[in-house]
Amino acid sequence: VILILGCDILPMTDDDEFWPDAAILIVGDRLAYVGPRSGIPPEATGRDVRVIDGRHRLALPGLINAHTHLGLNIFGAFVDDTDFRDELFEVLYPAEADMTATEGGLSALVGGLEVLKNGGTTLLDLYHHGGRTREAVTALGSRAELALMALDFDLAAPPPRNPRTGWIEDLDPSRGIRELEENVEFALTAQPGDRITWRLGVNTTDTVSDETMERASALAHEHDLGVHMHVSQHQGEVNFSLERRGCTPIEYLDRVGLLDVNLVAAHATVLPGSDVTILARSKAAIAHCPISNAKGGPIMGPIPRFLAEGGKVALGTDSTPADMLEVTRHASVLNKLMTGSVETISATQALRLATIDGARAIGRGHDLGSLEAGKLADLILIDTDQAHLVPMIDVPRTIVYNARGADVRTVVVGGDIVIDNSTSTRIDEERTLALYREAAAGFWTRRGFVPSHH
Ligand SMILES: [Zn+2]
Repeated sequence: VILILGCDILPMTDDDEFWPDAAILIVGDRLAYVGPRSGIPPEATGRDVRVIDGRHRLALPGLINAHTHLGLNIFGAFVDDTDFRDELFEVLYPAEADMTATEGGLSALVGGLEVLKNGGTTLLDLYHHGGRTREAVTALGSRAELALMALDFDLAAPPPRNPRTGWIEDLDPSRGIRELEENVEFALTAQPGDRITWRLGVNTTDTVSDETMERASALAHEHDLGVHMHVSQHQGEVNFSLERRGCTPIEYLDRVGLLDVNLVAAHATVLPGSDVTILARSKAAIAHCPISNAKGGPIMGPIPRFLAEGGKVALGTDSTPADMLEVTRHASVLNKLMTGSVETISATQALRLATIDGARAIGRGHDLGSLEAGKLADLILIDTDQAHLVPMIDVPRTIVYNARGADVRTVVVGGDIVIDNSTSTRIDEERTLALYREAAAGFWTRRGFVPSHH
């Protein structure tokens, strides 16, 4: 039993409540009470109650990071400021194939640590090596929905691409289907109540064959699994679909049945024709990654219009940095810039996308995303006793525009304090970073790169 006493609470409930100098009671893995001190229930007294001083702390629901690749943390900012499509084939894919289990494991561990320390309590990861990612996330105590990323070619030796279009000509469905089947095996091992659950994963619509896409849809329906994939990330992918399949990627997903399941579509930046409407009316959601889109596109996608049509949106960091508060701020300011309207994605709306609306978008609104009795005890405490956070007149605006991941002092997942005083309670951070620094140096030296500045 944990009692957090004297904190301010922004619970992100539908009626926009705010409780100053209030209390949170956690019993087991659930929230037992959230509200004014006057209403604290009797089970909050007793010898087994751990009391946390909540003065100068703002409690928020744990942030939902709907698109990560923890195993790629070791690449850092390496592919930023480049045409990422060429970089993927020439540098990233062969390097990924060359990564050892130790390097990949440490990459996932430090990637997950970064998400957690910055306030992200639930992450949706899309990558290979499910066992390695599960081990890393388990060690950290984070909540996660993992997905193996099906791909119809060999990473170690990507097949030649058509010089005119940039597309791979010979896709091998047996590769992607094998990864999907392995993914199902992981999913079937999950027990009810596990902190780690599984989705099916696919890389993109233009790196897998029709057979693999159809298999993903069949397996998702058969095992009642959500799906996680990159969708309509750039014009080249849309062109591929139009030429090969005679329709947009969104229309294609609709045709194979993948919009009838909880598909988390990362990016969805290029949505021509009726794509916005088709997607908004489906069970699918967009994982909007504004910082990644700005760096790698650079393109933002019609998020305000998609929201106006009733579409479901969660936010994601994609690559590094993995600070969800920074992503939340960018979801607001970059979309304002794109639309030329200050009313586009207000601070409150952005914070909802990072919490309750994001939880609903991934189908977890019943358990996550707001601080309400009965929900899972996933929350963060932000240190508000700092120059950039005083005075806090409008709480959502101050948090979205002024706060940073580094202001997160305490992170609770499923009733466990996994970050205390901005430090992991589960792993030795100093030792982990020392090992990682050494492993990363070895990895990059082997690939013929040394740390550089341009
Ligand atoms: Zn991605």
